[in-house]
Amino acid sequence: MMDRVLVTGGAGYIGSHACKALARAGFLPVAFDNLSTGWAEAVKYGPLARGDLLDRASIDAALAEHRPIAVMHFAALSLVGESMKDPGKYWRVNVEGALNLIEATVAAGIGNFVFSSTCATYGDQDGVVLTETTPQYPINAYGGSKKAIENILGDFAAAYPLNHVIFRYFNVAGADPEGQLGEQHQPETHLIPLMLEAVAGKRPALTVFGSDYATRDGTCVRDYVHVSDLVDAHVLGLKWLLDGKGTRAFNLGTGRGFSVREVIDAARTVTNREVPIIQGERRPGDAVALVSGSARAVEELGWEPKRSTLRQMIGDAWTWAQQPEYRE
Ligand code: UDP
Repeated sequence: MMDRVLVTGGAGYIGSHACKALARAGFLPVAFDNLSTGWAEAVKYGPLARGDLLDRASIDAALAEHRPIAVMHFAALSLVGESMKDPGKYWRVNVEGALNLIEATVAAGIGNFVFSSTCATYGDQDGVVLTETTPQYPINAYGGSKKAIENILGDFAAAYPLNHVIFRYFNVAGADPEGQLGEQHQPETHLIPLMLEAVAGKRPALTVFGSDYATRDGTCVRDYVHVSDLVDAHVLGLKWLLDGKGTRAFNLGTGRGFSVREVIDAARTVTNREVPIIQGERRPGDAVALVSGSARAVEELGWEPKRSTLRQMIGDAWTWAQQPEYRE
């Protein structure tokens, strides 16, 4: 019998890639998803357990049926802009959902938990390289909700045998290099897929949010990491827990930041097409620059980001964008 891992959000962008990486590593991923933003077609590597994190009974039922050795928690609302307009929704869905899941995990006697957190928990820190020990001062409700979940995990780990690995993602991009999975949000809000829709003529233009940030070209700087590298780190994090190495937080980024304009330039090169852009206002909640100090994951987990160049990420996203597989 293969060891099972419950993957909340397993039908979503990152969760589906994680399921593939887990299956490749010899685990059976059970995707727990309410399909509110995920795609049933993205669940390809193990069963789908339909359920909702706000419905505790559905979590208990999935844990009782599948008896996983670990939980990987991806399911969440994740849009900075939306979280500024509707903070209540973010606190309710993300925090209450995670609390239900953590309580159910403890009640089921499972002691291994991998959590998707975010660099948005650090807030806006004047362009400093962010390491795992940088104090966290989120500036939007999305980052605030993720920081709260990190705190909850800490409290539960003090009270119960619940080892956990926290991954703080920088900007995840790209698609499965074999073309089986990709990024498809409804509506789309992320820079690279929106930009590629503009390149493909599916939208008139990309709006660049802000031109007067204190960066080299006035646009925000982000650290982009390939989704397949990111999920490889999750498998390493799971093995870390199964090896009994205990609770730890890791940033997942490359340590290199690119401005919005640099990403657009790279897309021009990769696609060999023009990127139609409109200059817009700043987006509320956006930090000026978010760049990872990523040494810890490399040194302690043995993580090797292999595909996280702009060229590779945009190239894989472009291949997917020309042939997205999920039904609209
Ligand atoms: N961005 C932009 N236009 C868009 C979407 C995003 O200029 O239509 C910028 C955004 O302000 C940020 C960067 O691109 O500086 C990455 O944004 P995204 O929403 O992809 O990720 P986030 O940093 O919010 O997690």
